[in-house]
Amino acid sequence: MRKAAREAERVKALLDVSQHTSAARSVDELVQTTCDSAAAFLRVRCVDILLWDPDEERLRPAASWSVGNEAMTEDEARDETLLDGLRDGATVPLGPREASQRGVAVPMTYGGWFEGALVVRGDDEITGDLVELVEGMARQTAVALMSVRTMEQRQEDAEVNRTLLGVSEAVSSCVDEEVLWSLLVRSVSRALDLDWSIGARFDEAHGVFRVVGTKGLPEGASMPSDELRAEDYPVLADLLARRQIVAAGEPHVTPLLVGGTVGSWIAIPLCRGSWMAGVLIAGREQDRVPFGRGQRRIADGLAQHASTALQNARLIADLENADRLKSEFVSTVSHELRTPLNVIIGYTEMLREGAVGDLSGDQRDLVDRLDTRGRELLDLVEATLQVNRIEAGRDQVNAAPIGLGELVRALDISTAGLPRPPAVSFEWRLPEAPGAMLRTDRAKLALVVRNLVGNAFKFTSAGKVEVRLLLAGDVLAIEVEDSGIGIPADQLPIIFDMFRQVDGSETRKHNGVGLGLYIVKQFVTRLGGRVEVASTPGKGSTFRVAFPGAVVTAGERVAA
Ligand code: ADP
Repeated sequence: MRKAAREAERVKALLDVSQHTSAARSVDELVQTTCDSAAAFLRVRCVDILLWDPDEERLRPAASWSVGNEAMTEDEARDETLLDGLRDGATVPLGPREASQRGVAVPMTYGGWFEGALVVRGDDEITGDLVELVEGMARQTAVALMSVRTMEQRQEDAEVNRTLLGVSEAVSSCVDEEVLWSLLVRSVSRALDLDWSIGARFDEAHGVFRVVGTKGLPEGASMPSDELRAEDYPVLADLLARRQIVAAGEPHVTPLLVGGTVGSWIAIPLCRGSWMAGVLIAGREQDRVPFGRGQRRIADGLAQHASTALQNARLIADLENADRLKSEFVSTVSHELRTPLNVIIGYTEMLREGAVGDLSGDQRDLVDRLDTRGRELLDLVEATLQVNRIEAGRDQVNAAPIGLGELVRALDISTAGLPRPPAVSFEWRLPEAPGAMLRTDRAKLALVVRNLVGNAFKFTSAGKVEVRLLLAGDVLAIEVEDSGIGIPADQLPIIFDMFRQVDGSETRKHNGVGLGLYIVKQFVTRLGGRVEVASTPGKGSTFRVAFPGAVVTAGERVAA
């Protein structure tokens, strides 16, 4: 009967403690609640909870309740015999102490994990019943600790992920290095919940860090200079050597700053592989609270996002630079080629016109070939320059009003010099609409038609090439039809791409480099139009360009 009563008492005590501890939301709250409720129930002089610190491999006093000021000290918690016993899973009796004579320390373990110890001391004898009760409470506390830790971990994960997502969203949309740095200097203190921050870019060529921004520096503190040599600042030297986060909970040196006092600070190197982009340093104004695990995880993640974004920005800047250099080079070379080519073509023309005497049949033949090849080369140089201008975005559309007759004359001139095989006839079909007014960029449209007609001649050996101008409502359409070799259906989608040719082989019969239709497509699009092609291999092709809104006044329609 007495045993049954004792058992009921024990169960009630454990239930009571478990009720209190299950409401705890953090480890601190849990250990304190356990202490308080154990003390209330056991009616002893003093209850302590020691927690195991796996990093330092020692027990630390975490919570205490006592009649007087009798909490266990750090030194007492470090006692090696005590620790050995507890780690073996044994309940360790404690020797007499000043105020309390007897005591017992019970390990808190769960699923093989050693969490710490529950220590109870009092003046009365420590009975077997009491030890049993304390052991039950220790087990319960270990279970509760595990679940609170899991909960804290989840909360920390959610917080870390939320913060890093914010940082990643902000930096991933930015490709300008300067803007990126100022964004990072602002984000680092916010993400880590700190007061001030500094950003410094590493200049590899000169081996110095250059300050790119600061935020909220502590009162009286400032940067010593905009250029910081690693050997003058231990924190920078350390970052360069180890490339790992340096966190100072108890700073005895102020990082990089002169004047003012600072609290704890963290220095985050931004590097990818062997490449060092720079460093972010952030800290508190006064407090010397060490950085928690969550903050270190945020700092790690931030370093990764930031260094990737900075590297991308650097790569893009390098590419843009290389692209600009290439453009400048192509432009210079093309200009240099154009002048002598024009001179060569000019002299050839003089020869053909008999400026230095009549030519024999064979001589004329050679001069004609010279002229043709010279003009082809000039076309190529012009096309290269044109593409270069388009790519560099330097190509402006200059749409202006133009009468139909004037436009036809411009198109006629632009196609006049094109080499046409003798067995191919060339015809124009024009609308009879006197007074029709159009709005377009005459030079660009002329080049579009020249490229289309040039191709039609090039890929047609017999038959005819016809150009049709059509006005339908406000749409101006131009069709160039040939009876040439045609284009296979699967090639139609790619012929407007740069350098794409149906026959790209070295042995191909037709000259050209594959820029003509690319220029056509670019110009037509810039003029607000569309280009289409229909073709049957062996029969011929029809290219059609259409510009809605290009017809301003339809003019008088005369039935054909
Ligand atoms: P290029 O004429 O310098 O090769 P283009 O960009 O003008 O370059 O044309 C690309 C390719 O499209 C040509 O190489 C050719 O294979 C095909 N093509 C263009 N126009 C015609 C056409 N009228 N008839 C047949 N094939 C054509």
